[in-house]
Amino acid sequence: MMYREVRESIVDVLRFLEVKGLNYGRAGNVSVRIPEANHVVITPSGFLKSALKPEDLIVIDLNGGLIEGSGKPSVETPMHLTIYRRFSKINAVIHAHAPYTTVLAVVREPIPPLIEEMVLRVGGDVKVTKYAPLGTQELAEEVVKALEGRSAAIIANHGVVAVGKNLQEATEVLELVEKIAQIYIHAKLLGKIETLPQNVVEYLKTLYIKTQNTT
Ligand SMILES: [Zn+2]
Repeated sequence: MMYREVRESIVDVLRFLEVKGLNYGRAGNVSVRIPEANHVVITPSGFLKSALKPEDLIVIDLNGGLIEGSGKPSVETPMHLTIYRRFSKINAVIHAHAPYTTVLAVVREPIPPLIEEMVLRVGGDVKVTKYAPLGTQELAEEVVKALEGRSAAIIANHGVVAVGKNLQEATEVLELVEKIAQIYIHAKLLGKIETLPQNVVEYLKTLYIKTQNTT
């Protein structure tokens, strides 16, 4: 079986997401790119994600061609592959239906730069895509547009996508965005929101870009 360690790390992340309430049931999908082979290890469609075993994962190439596995790759495979083709340094993609971020997806509200950690690790504000039906190439294109210059995007009426140079980074981004969505919703309930000063956002963004360029 190819890429056993990568498969195990994906299965671990799926359990982590379920335990932390960041994803549930059959929702969500995770993939990791193997840059030296131009292969992608991705979750299959239609399983309880936290019950997946390493051998259930599917290996495809960057055009979606099957390399190894017997199931059907995730319905969001076009989104994963479009992200990898567009962003050469991204090697992990997580899509989840995290509840607070999905609240913002439903009201189609982007998250402004609220806390410093958000700019340092996500790259600034988090945008909401234009609506596109699940699993379509149109959705994939909208996600890539919303991800430009940042590590996460809210998918309209759907959920969230987080990316990283590796799976650990993408997982941390996903968890952080959900925390920030929670903070944002609660802060809005209390009244007026003060975002970070623009010069601070610009400075922190330069630090974010540096981390993105280290390999
Ligand atoms: Zn979804």
